[in-house]
Amino acid sequence: MTADYHTHNALCRHAEGEPKDYVAAAKAAGLPEIGIADHSPMPELFDDWRMLREEFPQYLDLVEEARKAHPDFPVRLGMEVDYFPPGAVGHDWISKLKDMADWDYWIGSVHYIAPGWDVDNPKWIGRFSEGDVGEIWKMYWDIYVQAIKSEQFHIMGHADLPKKFGFRPEGDLRYYYEPAVTAAVEHGVAFEINTAGWHKECAEQYPSREFLNMIHDADVPIVISSDAHEPGHVGRDFEKAREIAMEVGFRSTVQFEKGVRKVVAL
Ligand SMILES: [Zn+2]
Ligand SMILES: [Zn+2]
Repeated sequence: MTADYHTHNALCRHAEGEPKDYVAAAKAAGLPEIGIADHSPMPELFDDWRMLREEFPQYLDLVEEARKAHPDFPVRLGMEVDYFPPGAVGHDWISKLKDMADWDYWIGSVHYIAPGWDVDNPKWIGRFSEGDVGEIWKMYWDIYVQAIKSEQFHIMGHADLPKKFGFRPEGDLRYYYEPAVTAAVEHGVAFEINTAGWHKECAEQYPSREFLNMIHDADVPIVISSDAHEPGHVGRDFEKAREIAMEVGFRSTVQFEKGVRKVVAL
């Protein structure tokens, strides 16, 4: 089993349980370690699916409490940080957030592909059937590449997210994937195989096998993540994800402590 670095908790308003419950679940599932990586706060009230800025100290306290409750188990401090391109609200905030804790790792995610448009929010599902799916994918991947190039992140989160509701553009998807793979090689990030995708309309892990083939050929490392929003989902489908990773050719995964990457056999 591998570490699970993508787990949430009740602070983000759409997950259940406290970090210590996720740690207990990781132990029970036989994982070697866990990382807590809740959605990043924003400088001001921004949407309804993240902790408030005032709650940030509580986040750190809860992770500390989880460490104390499970002193025999490695609990890493992370965050799933929303990337915003230069000029957008939230861009300058990212570097401030970096100084606000002693992080083990950061997951870089793109949810917002334009101001007020979180691409994975069911509120906007109509935009896929009414609009140009290829254009939506292009908007997403353009920001995703900028996120990789920002070199703020150790792991890139759920690549391929706009497929969540099952809408994929026609044609060769490598057109969208290639710039991200090239940027990953140049800027040294790892990608997660995020097993939550199997439980969405797309019924496929994030990212697709095609993307995994490309990063494997380019020698870009992976982790396996559940994106758990309840303790029972920690390590969910990790056997299946590992099987796919092995089929693609991966033989190792990576772990992080204080930003330092360690290679571990898969
Ligand atoms: Zn979430
Ligand atoms: Zn996410």
